[in-house]
Amino acid sequence: MFKKVLIANRGEIAVRIIRACRELGVRTVAVFSEPDREALHAMIADEAVCIGPAKSADSYLNIKAILAACELTGAEAVHPGFGFLSENAGFAKMCARCGVAFIGPSPEAMTLMGDKATAKQTMKKAGVPVVPGSDGLIGSVEEAKALAEQIGYPVMVKASAGGGGRGIRRVDRPEDLEDAIVTARREAKSFFGDDGVYLEKFIVDPRHVEIQLLADKYGNTVYLGERDCSLQRRNQKMVEECPCPVMTPALRARVGEAAVRAAKACGYENAGTVEFLLSGDQFYFMEMNTRIQVEHPVTEFVTGVDLVKMQIRIAAGEELPFKQEDIHMTGHAIECRINAENPAQGFRPSPGKITALHMPGGPGIRIDTAVYSGYEITPYYDSMIAKLIAYAPTREEALKKMNWALAEFLVEGVDTNIDFQLKLLRDPDVEAASYDIGFLGRNLGRLTKG
Ligand code: ADP
Ligand code: ADP
Ligand code: MG
Repeated sequence: MFKKVLIANRGEIAVRIIRACRELGVRTVAVFSEPDREALHAMIADEAVCIGPAKSADSYLNIKAILAACELTGAEAVHPGFGFLSENAGFAKMCARCGVAFIGPSPEAMTLMGDKATAKQTMKKAGVPVVPGSDGLIGSVEEAKALAEQIGYPVMVKASAGGGGRGIRRVDRPEDLEDAIVTARREAKSFFGDDGVYLEKFIVDPRHVEIQLLADKYGNTVYLGERDCSLQRRNQKMVEECPCPVMTPALRARVGEAAVRAAKACGYENAGTVEFLLSGDQFYFMEMNTRIQVEHPVTEFVTGVDLVKMQIRIAAGEELPFKQEDIHMTGHAIECRINAENPAQGFRPSPGKITALHMPGGPGIRIDTAVYSGYEITPYYDSMIAKLIAYAPTREEALKKMNWALAEFLVEGVDTNIDFQLKLLRDPDVEAASYDIGFLGRNLGRLTKG
């Protein structure tokens, strides 16, 4: 096992990783930007190193400063968390070159999966069902038009380097295709520095179902059930649950085995998630996220596996302590992302000082957060301030638990989406689990009123 790990991230995920290290007896190094001097992750780690000013590009994305901090503190490994450098193959390569272990997959696997168009081609070859669409990137608009005609509208234009719901456009009519390609390219260029886009069929009203994987260095790959992340606003997840309410054991085995094939096709190791669209009992590979995900706690509750500790143990060379047949799913977990934002004003971020804070607790309630009373939420990073997770034997009981927990959750000083989440979970369709990825978009007006 490593003696010391550096966490190249901030906020709740950095805190989550520091705690996992503690349990493994591993010393921790936090890195922080100037405005994050009093952030929780910087305070609770064994050591903390300032890596630059507020702007992410100068601090949390500053590869040189992060590797210098490893050198300075003698950290043997880096955990990248999610966001920031977590899917940056160049960073993983630099770590290897500096003799620092990267807690994640190999740079080769990251590169392959990071390019979503290439990943789709590889998956198709490996026998994983993919959404019908272009074979790789699209060239000219004429070519795209001909292809869209062939697969049928609506279609989706997607950035190959994309992530976080960015660079994605739905197109319903041929006359709108050119504009969509231009805007998706522009967005992709500005966010990811790469304007490659591909085309795929728009699957109408599917669910977003993703499979959690763990793979060690010795060829053992297991799936730890699925998560349903269909409650999304603008392709960004808001609520996640495990298991998917419409999943059957037979379908789970089919999707789970497809996800394992996907991982094996790229020599994957460590934790990863394969995202699928599920329509009836048809499922299609969308992408693989080569990192720990925001919504990993719901899987942890239901499977009893600590995914972050497993990531560290795998990177340190340990073998998976279980086989597929040892993985059992018990009970139901739901996660709500609590953001500092104002739903009535188009979910505008709401930075500021938290003047009062009360968080719910008790059996079956988990909160992953890095905020505290008096903490100042800066405008520099994303608006998620906490994840509230409720776990109970059944979905109905988990919903009841989430209901009172949200109602008790009190944050003063900034706007939050807590009331919005409460309204959402009390919606009869959500209660009945009859929702798809378009549900929030269709009902936003009603849910954000009053
Ligand atoms: P998930 O919820 O499945 O873990 P998200 O797509 O919500 O994944 O992304 C998690 C975090 O990572 C968010 O803060 C998001 O903005 C950020 N993120 C995702 N993809 C990228 C990317 N390619 N570049 C930078 N940040 C990203
Ligand atoms: P990102 O890398 O930004 O997470 P994804 O490829 O995972 O991008 O897509 C984000 C979301 O967009 C999905 O969760 C889904 O809701 C929607 N989406 C993506 N592709 C399609 C498609 N072909 N048809 C319908 N919805 C889609
Ligand atoms: Mg995705």
